[in-house]
Amino acid sequence: MPTYKAPLRDMRFLINEVFDFESHYKTLPNGEDATPDMVEAILGELARLCENTIAPLYQSGDEEGCKLEDGVVTTPKGYKEAYQEYVAGGWQGLSHPAEFGGQGLPMSLNLFKQEMLGTANWSFAMYPGLSLGAMNTIQLHGDEEQKQTYLTRLTEGTWAGTMCLTEPQCGTDLGQVKTKAEPQDNGSYKITGTKIFISSGDHDLTENIVHIVLARLPDAPKGTKGISLFIVPKYLPGKIGEDNGVACGSLEKKMGIKASATCVMNFDQATGFLIGPANQGLECMFTFMNSARIGTACQGIAHAELAYQGSLPYAKERRSMRALSGKKDPDAVADALIHHGDVRRMLLKQKAIAEGGRAMIYFAAQYADNMISGILEDDKDKYDRWDSELGFLTPILKGFLTEKGLEAANDAMQVFGGHGYIKEHGMEQIVRDARIATLYEGTTGIQALDLLGRKVLLSSRGKCVRDFSKKLLDFGRKHLTDGELRPYAWKLLKIAAEWNYLTTRIMLVAAKDREMVGTASHDFLMYSGYAMMAYFWALQAKVARDKLAHGGNEPKEFYQAKLATAEFFFERMLPAAKGHADGALKPTKSTMQLAPEHFSFDYE
Ligand SMILES: Cc1cc2nc3c(=O)[nH]c(=O)nc-3n(C[C@H](O)[C@H](O)[C@H](O)COP(=O)(O)OP(=O)(O)OC[C@H]3O[C@@H](n4cnc5c(N)ncnc54)[C@H](O)[C@@H]3O)c2cc1C
Repeated sequence: MPTYKAPLRDMRFLINEVFDFESHYKTLPNGEDATPDMVEAILGELARLCENTIAPLYQSGDEEGCKLEDGVVTTPKGYKEAYQEYVAGGWQGLSHPAEFGGQGLPMSLNLFKQEMLGTANWSFAMYPGLSLGAMNTIQLHGDEEQKQTYLTRLTEGTWAGTMCLTEPQCGTDLGQVKTKAEPQDNGSYKITGTKIFISSGDHDLTENIVHIVLARLPDAPKGTKGISLFIVPKYLPGKIGEDNGVACGSLEKKMGIKASATCVMNFDQATGFLIGPANQGLECMFTFMNSARIGTACQGIAHAELAYQGSLPYAKERRSMRALSGKKDPDAVADALIHHGDVRRMLLKQKAIAEGGRAMIYFAAQYADNMISGILEDDKDKYDRWDSELGFLTPILKGFLTEKGLEAANDAMQVFGGHGYIKEHGMEQIVRDARIATLYEGTTGIQALDLLGRKVLLSSRGKCVRDFSKKLLDFGRKHLTDGELRPYAWKLLKIAAEWNYLTTRIMLVAAKDREMVGTASHDFLMYSGYAMMAYFWALQAKVARDKLAHGGNEPKEFYQAKLATAEFFFERMLPAAKGHADGALKPTKSTMQLAPEHFSFDYE
């Protein structure tokens, strides 16, 4: 089993040398306290918590899983104590307002925290992670009384939160939600219905759980325009321990993240309170969706990082045959796996995904900070502008990075050969845990449709691609005559042109054939992911090259490794983008022509 070690060098490289968070924090209304010393102290403390307390529970939590007995859900051994340590450290309120007991620091610090917690133990990270969704919703849409009642306890972490959207008949298409909300004379509502797949729906980590539930009022219009949002606590405030008609009916038996309690939740005339305007529940729910989805995008890099931390030492220890260019360890019985080209390919791919993905997320984290500034400064235009910038990045990060994280986990397993498939080394657990990331918080298919259909074509008619690809163009033009960076500059120029060409072509075809958006969307998403990752690898290469020339905070081998990984990404991974470009432009016919009844002639 890999022993998690926080990748602090890489995090510091991005935070200090690539993205200059120190200057960025100076521009934020809540950035004053985020000094380099403070950031360093936070990273160090988090690393200690994650390495010593949370990571050691990763494998045992998977083996033991959660249990439901007599209506009570318990988490695996050690989770409660670890959660208490997390709460005692004040970690839940890191980026939440001081008036509710939080530390009010920029959102990006919370994303660094999510990455570390999640890499150490994704199942554990789900409990505080889901709570953040509930906290954000109440903070933005709750009235003053709701904020006072719930936010202090949620910010402390002594209460937890959930997001209850999915029902048996619908996960993506929430317009089909059936859960009912009946108004009561005292202004509250009786909530009745069943929600499935609810992460952290019930557990023993906190004294109360605050569910944010999508439900329908009696006179609500059909579809998405008739859904409202409710706060439904497990126990009503002041009545801890008294049944409020909220119960976990069963725990889902699932492939991975077994220490995360995924619950069927039954609401039986449970008392709830409307949050936000009636019938605008979905809009309220989606307000913070971008940052929630970036949290899930972290899962891609989390699993790539952990898988790499497992497969790298194994590739150095395990011996098999001799290197093609001659013996590397002549005194040993055979050479280590790391000397074989195909094993190096798999290792470098994991490294490129983890570090390239981390750069993408940290960049987006600055956008998230700017978006929050809009709220803190009561500047709606600013909020909307940054939310929209973030809105373009989100489906790419969530869709591309979770797919690539799964690929990295599979590569790590492959490095172990047959030993990757058995439990002992922990690789199969990482693969199982990584799989869910492409499904929840909007499947990859839905991210792809959101990107191409909504963000690129409908909302901006390609402007968001033009705007982002300008960064690639600028880099390309600036470094085209630079001997070392020239190959990257040249490729970025080509990609920027191709990305815009793809967008325009798809837009033209889709104007006549609407199926084009659906058939092209996955390839377009993956192409966009490669394009974005290429930019961030070029940026890292430039900074590494400059630091090698003029001196940086890290040893020279660190910067040389960055350059080598950038070269690997550009030469061995980026060519896959071409296949996606070709696929995206193919006419819809080959995908759409087969009639549903002709997909098989032997079975239904
Ligand atoms: C472990 C786990 C934890 C979860 N946690 C939560 C939680 O905390 N709260 C919560 O509310 N939900 C949660 N979910 C539910 C999750 O968000 C949904 O499963 C997910 O949104 C997909 O919905 P679905 O399963 O109903 O699939 P469906 O919506 O039925 O989709 C099935 C397939 O069809 C595709 N598809 C659907 N519609 C379209 C379309 N219009 N165009 C193209 N393709 C389409 C999808 O991409 C997918 O591949 C969780 C699920 C799991 C497994």
